[in-house]
Amino acid sequence: MATVQRTYEPQFSDRFYLPAVVRGLWMTFVRIFRRKDTIPYPDRKYVPADGYRGLQRLNKDAEGRIKCVACEMCQTACPAHCITIVPSPAPWDEGEERYPVQFDIDLLRCIFCGFCELACPKEAIELTEIYDYASYTRDDLIINMEGLLKVYDVTSQGNIYKRQNEGESITIDTGKL
Ligand code: SF4
Ligand code: SF4
Repeated sequence: MATVQRTYEPQFSDRFYLPAVVRGLWMTFVRIFRRKDTIPYPDRKYVPADGYRGLQRLNKDAEGRIKCVACEMCQTACPAHCITIVPSPAPWDEGEERYPVQFDIDLLRCIFCGFCELACPKEAIELTEIYDYASYTRDDLIINMEGLLKVYDVTSQGNIYKRQNEGESITIDTGKL
């Protein structure tokens, strides 16, 4: 049988509503002069703390080449099974011998645990601060290698929300999102 716990016992003064109304109006008035807890999004963006786990990116090396060697460690570590990698011999003569020809992440399945980043031996995949992306279709929320590399281009110059709040115009065109 359910137990109802009463945490507040009505007082005699609760029969008169006017004091409560006045107290409520006073609290509203006092809040006007305090720092606002709300942000006028999207004009201002919330800046998440360092280490926030948002949209992934695929990092590039000093020569602008994808760092990923398609070892599939991240795919193996992913508890949501949302990473798909197709490896291939690398087309360049010097450097890593493998690279991915396909690297997809199903963002609707991803739980942003960060295990992929931890598992990567090449620091090739990283979670970024990006939290505000959306789409009308499920297919569009599968981000591919091109999109993940574009996220790197945009986020490697610093936190995008800080830069947007400082007036920099940034658009993230990943092709789909
Ligand atoms: S953050 Fe977690 S769930 Fe998302 S792709 Fe990486 S390992 Fe998979
Ligand atoms: S992102 Fe890292 S762990 Fe995943 S396949 Fe590439 S190199 Fe391996």
